Amino acid sequence: MAKRDYYEVLGISKGASADEIKKAYRKKAKELHPDRNKDNPESEAQFKEAGEAYDILKDPEKKAAYDRFGHAAFEGGMGGGGPRPGGGFGGGAGQGDFASAFSDVFDDLFGDFMGGGRAGGGRQRAARGSDLRYNLRVTLEEAFNGSQKTINVPTSVQCDACNGSGAEGGAEPTTCPTCSGMGKVRAQQGFFTVERTCPTCSGLGQIIKNPCNTCHGQGRVEKERALNVNIPAGVETGTRIRLAGEGEAGMRGGPAGDLYIFIEVAKHDIFEREDTNLFCRVPVSMTTAALGGDIEVPTIDGGRSRVKIPAGSQSGRQMRLRNKGMPALRGGSSGDMFIELAVETPVNLTSRQKELLREFDSLSEDNNPESKSFFSSVKSFWDGMKG
Ligand SMILES: [Zn+2]
Ligand SMILES: [Zn+2]
Repeated sequence: MAKRDYYEVLGISKGASADEIKKAYRKKAKELHPDRNKDNPESEAQFKEAGEAYDILKDPEKKAAYDRFGHAAFEGGMGGGGPRPGGGFGGGAGQGDFASAFSDVFDDLFGDFMGGGRAGGGRQRAARGSDLRYNLRVTLEEAFNGSQKTINVPTSVQCDACNGSGAEGGAEPTTCPTCSGMGKVRAQQGFFTVERTCPTCSGLGQIIKNPCNTCHGQGRVEKERALNVNIPAGVETGTRIRLAGEGEAGMRGGPAGDLYIFIEVAKHDIFEREDTNLFCRVPVSMTTAALGGDIEVPTIDGGRSRVKIPAGSQSGRQMRLRNKGMPALRGGSSGDMFIELAVETPVNLTSRQKELLREFDSLSEDNNPESKSFFSSVKSFWDGMKG
């Protein structure tokens, strides 16, 4: 049975406001409520269809996804409710340590769909595995060059013993007697009939008489896998890399989820990053700053650049090295590197050095224009106060 367009189901146009959607749904729900349509066997399916349409369209995020992708937006995100497929991690023997590195991604986004929706279509599909998140820390050098990393992903994979069916000896699962395969049970609560995920089959609609000994009926087992990940040059903290189908195996033969690598670029001792630009604070001696000279600065590619310090440079002076920054992740030109001078006042002076500096000071005339202008402003400030 082809799924009808949600807007058509509710009898509204695509541009309908949230209010109109709500009103249209209320009207349909009243009209189609099974208790009022005892002699129309189709009304139940239509009632559910309207509920499903409303579930999606009332939520701005889901509505946007539906407007863009149609029903395909939610395919795969659905499946059995009940225990979250990702829940197996923490309990796995010896795998508790990994749990912190992992969590289900987009649970908030897709959680609502689990077990929902398909009621009209009869038996539900096997559950898709969870999407997983893996936090990967890379150095700034790796982010600059791009790199290949091998990561060990603790995840669940299809159980070989039962070929993922969850049943011992490969026997077919049977329809759940509690919910007759609907994955849902109904209960009267005041005026309302509420639907709940079936407690017997956890929403899968099927049960297994003789669960597989290896996977205890889950159809999947926990295992650590080594995966090669290509880190493209230019990644930043927050960059996500999606590895389709590398998430958790589905329940009982369902499709696998995706693995999302979340990049974190570690702080660097020398360089600070801002988008594609790099900043580097370079101390220079007082004499170099005064007399001018050449200094050598490191660049992120591991090389060095000569930089000319003009005579009379002050702390805070910035110089730009073009294209010596980070590459842009999506192509385009590289950033620049900025160095910022920090003039260092000499310490641990010998008596001879002190003598020379005092002599230098006695010969100073117009060497400190900034001090001169500052103190003349200060003087007029104080004079003004007396005024
Ligand atoms: Zn098994
Ligand atoms: Zn059931």
